[in-house]
Parts: sequence; structure tokens; C-alpha cells
Amino acid sequence: MLQTPILLTPGPLTTSLATRTAMLIDWGSWDSSFNVLTASVCADLLAIANGQTQHCCIPLQGSGTFAVEAALGTLVPRTGKLLVLENGAYGQRMSKIARAIGRDVVILSWPDGVAVDALAVKAKLQADPAITHIGLIHCETATGLLNPLPEIARIANDAGCELIVDAMSSFGALDIDVQALNLCAVIAASGKCLEGVPGMGFVIAKTAAIALAHGNSPSLALDLADQYEYLQRTGQWRFTPPTHVVAALRAALDQYQAEGGRSTRLERYTSNAKVLIERLKSAGLKLFLNENLQAPIILTFHAPAHPHYQFTTFYNAMRERGFVLYPGKLTQIETFRVGCIGAIDSAQLEQAAHAIIDVLTQLNWLTPAAEKNHA
Ligand SMILES: *Cc1c(COP(=O)(O)O)cnc(C)c1O
Repeated sequence: MLQTPILLTPGPLTTSLATRTAMLIDWGSWDSSFNVLTASVCADLLAIANGQTQHCCIPLQGSGTFAVEAALGTLVPRTGKLLVLENGAYGQRMSKIARAIGRDVVILSWPDGVAVDALAVKAKLQADPAITHIGLIHCETATGLLNPLPEIARIANDAGCELIVDAMSSFGALDIDVQALNLCAVIAASGKCLEGVPGMGFVIAKTAAIALAHGNSPSLALDLADQYEYLQRTGQWRFTPPTHVVAALRAALDQYQAEGGRSTRLERYTSNAKVLIERLKSAGLKLFLNENLQAPIILTFHAPAHPHYQFTTFYNAMRERGFVLYPGKLTQIETFRVGCIGAIDSAQLEQAAHAIIDVLTQLNWLTPAAEKNHA
């Protein structure tokens, strides 16, 4: 049998056998049992975000980016103006999407590793009253940084702006209450903290905003107002649904609930991150972020300072030991990333940390911690 590697990446990630097994059945997209499956998945996703009263959950075929593009195109009117808060590659992608679909977009940006500053956002909104919507990345997966969602939500609400949150890598683990924060939309996907397989995005949006959004979307396939209307009317997806992905997500959600829901999942990821940080730090590796900005989702480490360091060699040696790492996503400095999410626990992270240290030591790329401290 093919050995499944442990994916230390932010998606696709390691899934459980039960989740993978749920994909062994073929579903007919017209079958009422599949409609029931879709409805139950959407109901559970809405409940995780506390969105049962004023929000709806709209599933969408494709990877997470498709859902981001769909949300921006559907929810930001053609006459709207979007302020994107950028502090990493996913924030940059959001403004790129907004430009590609022809929305008026302005940007506030911070360097990698610096959190979005709520006061600067407030000042920007005061200076530019034409801004109607704000786009924020909750956990900026490029570094692993957690942006201050509640503060930004408060400022958006005070200014009468709608907040759209890309919570792709945090949904299901970190707290997001769409009702309490009065969020316009939260965007996430099947294959990250929910531990399903990739292939389905979803948007939890204000039902009233979706009702007013007909005709906004520059795209047919990515029109969430149309997708939602069709789903409401027929119980079916507008176009061929990713049936196996939905079934796997149903199974993943069952395990999520059995595990104890969001807080238990967060605890598991937090202890995963803690093990990695402690072990790698004691081996002399340095975390890129200030620990107070670090979400327990994905960790960015500075690459060893050795002149011969090469990620590909490191990656291949780790792959041989059954672990899949993630390259860094910073342009200025050499880093590598290790994901803490997926159907893995601290025992596996312990093994992963051990393998990282072992591989780097064998390659002679690791300065012993003691030496470094004296340097
Ligand atoms: C994963 C991710 C996305 C979506 O990426 P895809 O490759 O399209 O799945 C978007 N935003 C963030 C913050 C992410 O972590």
C-alpha cells in the first residue's frame, strides 16, 4: 500500500482514514440524499461561525481562491470601493483579484510579520469616505501571522463599512463570530482547519447582502447570489458539485464535533505549535514572527544561516522520512514553513521536529544552539 506522508502544510493537509473512506461512495448530484448532505454541511459551517440568524452559507466548487474571487465579485458592488489590508502574499492576492475583476481598490500595507494596524485603518477610512468594503486576511498564511479581527471589525462597523474576511487558514480553529462582529462575509474552504479534502470553498455571508447582490458579479460561475438562489430553490448545486469532497467534509465535520468542536481543535493545534517551536528553538532555529503575533496554524522559521542551505535538498530529505514541508513565501529572506494543522497531534509534531533537526544536522547546516548563543 502507498504510504501516506504527513503533510505539514496548510492544505492540502493530513486527513484521517475516516475522512478518506467517506470518498468511496459515488453520489448522484440529483439524488435527494446528496441534497441532504449539502444542506447539513452548510448548516454546520454556519453554526461554527455563529451565523444562523443573519447569515447564510454558500458552497462553491474549487479551491479557496475561487471563493475569495466569488465573494469579492458578488459582494462588492460595481460602484463600490474596496480597501485591502495587506501584510503578506494572501493579502496581495486579494487586491490582485479585486483589480482583475475591475473593482476600485485601495491598499494599506505592512511588511511581512507586522500586524495590520487598526488605527491606520481608522485614519484611512476617515480620509477616504468612498470606501465601502474592507478586505482582511485573518491568519496570513504566508507568515502565520494572526491579524486583529475584532479591532478591525469594530472600526469597520463604526465607519459603516462592510468587512470581508479571508479566514481560509483559521476557520474552524480560531474564534470567528460573524454575528457578534457583524461581518459581511467570511471565506474559507474544505481542506484546511476543518480537515476535509480540498475542492470546496464556502462563503458565510449576510443573507441581506446576498439578496441585494444580484447583477454584481462579473462572472457567471463565481456568482454567489445566483449559486445561493439556485441552492435555495432546488436544494442542488448550480453546476456539478464536488460530490466526494462534500461527503469527505461531512465525515470531517462529524469528527470535528466528536472531538469537541472548535475549542478542542484549537487546543490540539496549539500544542502542535508549541512542540515544534520548543524543539526547533532549542536546536538553534529561529521563529520568524514575534510569538505574540503567531497563530497556531503555520510556523515560519528562518532557514539555517549556512551558505549552502537549499530548501529543495532539505525538503527531499524530509520527504524521504515521510514528512512534507512547505517552502517559505517571503521575498526578502530565506525561510521554511511547517504547518500545525490537519489530522495530526503533538506526537507526530515531535517526530517531525526530531526529523528536521536530524536532517539539518546530517547536512551540516545546523549551528549547534550552544555555539550560536555564544556567538
Ligand atoms: C489557502 C489560502 C487561500 C486559498 O488558496 P488556494 O490555493 O486557492 O486554496 C486563500 N487565503 C488564505 C489566507 C489561505 O491560507
